[in-house]
Amino acid sequence: MLILGLETSCDETGVALYDTGRGLLAHALFSQVDIHVEYGGVVPELASRDHVRKALPLIQQVLAQAGCAPQQLDGIAYTAGPGLVGALMVGATLARSLAWAWGIPSLGVHHMEGHLLAPMLETEHPEFPFIALLVSGGHTQLVRVDAIGEYRLLGESLDDAAGEAFDKVAKMLGLPYPGGPHVARLAQRGTVGRFEFPRPMVNRPGLDFSFSGLKTFTLNTVKTCRAETGLTEQDLCDIACAFEDAVVATLVIKCRRALEQEGLTTLVMAGGVSANHKLRSQLQQAVAKSGARVFYPAPEFCTDNGAMIAYAGAQRLLAGQHDAADASVRPRWPMEQLPPLTPAAVE
Ligand code: ATP
Ligand code: MG
Ligand code: FE
Repeated sequence: MLILGLETSCDETGVALYDTGRGLLAHALFSQVDIHVEYGGVVPELASRDHVRKALPLIQQVLAQAGCAPQQLDGIAYTAGPGLVGALMVGATLARSLAWAWGIPSLGVHHMEGHLLAPMLETEHPEFPFIALLVSGGHTQLVRVDAIGEYRLLGESLDDAAGEAFDKVAKMLGLPYPGGPHVARLAQRGTVGRFEFPRPMVNRPGLDFSFSGLKTFTLNTVKTCRAETGLTEQDLCDIACAFEDAVVATLVIKCRRALEQEGLTTLVMAGGVSANHKLRSQLQQAVAKSGARVFYPAPEFCTDNGAMIAYAGAQRLLAGQHDAADASVRPRWPMEQLPPLTPAAVE
């Protein structure tokens, strides 16, 4: 089954072709970072307008790259939520119009299910059941995954998402949007241990997170440094390092706790923050100690992309699911509301 995937939930236009027999055939991405950077964050209206400009050329590019004609497609998957409503509408309208014109089914995919299943695109991929740590710009969640569409939320951030905290700290340090990779780069030159930042909520039972206190702590440290000696380049590196260490340590502790609580030995990490090197290596080390294994997507499929939407959509289209005539986008959409993969399992 050959599926075209389209991602337009935020500030990346992602397109991919996935074949359930042959795997990922082609993918292309246009990032709008340069458009939004001067505003320090995503401007929804500008995001929608640029998806309109980029989506169709990217679809043509991907079809040409794979040497496929539209007549060979068996379905189109697009991101139906969660995300920016205007941006979602662009992808949904385009995908559904093409599907109608080409006489094939379309399916609205959950963006976080896309992230969650992105590690399945790798040759060495996880087996169900597993614990998923979803760490992105809008989400920080621990999910028990028994199969596609069988998700139980174990814990989540009570305030900011981890990626959002990275982005806000980047602003405090004078770094451009999106800040995660910039903070990580600065942290590499930081002196470990000069600043000790709190590990939020690790001493409380449960699997929820909170990152807003850490953000305030970071701001106060910036202010103190500035008042005492003026903010030096080394101060910035040391603060970035302490912040990153605190986020990573917190995520690692909660992942181990989730595996233990659920009696599982497979951990999957996905979403933009899962591209973070320190998080990847520390999680790997910590989890290996307890005999568990961790899987994550290739770095290019950690942040938003079309491949993850094509993959998730392909699994569901293959199981016979497709849009109803009155399908709509869902700017807010709890992942636990998704149907299981096999219709027979609904009962
Ligand atoms: P969501 O998926 O929750 O809707 P989103 O799509 O905006 O949100 P992603 O594209 O998955 O989020 O990830 C983007 C986030 O990942 C940004 O907050 C960015 O700063 C963060 N990020 C990307 N690379 C890194 C990195 N190396 N270290 C830390 N954070 C990173
Ligand atoms: Mg993005
Ligand atoms: Fe995302």
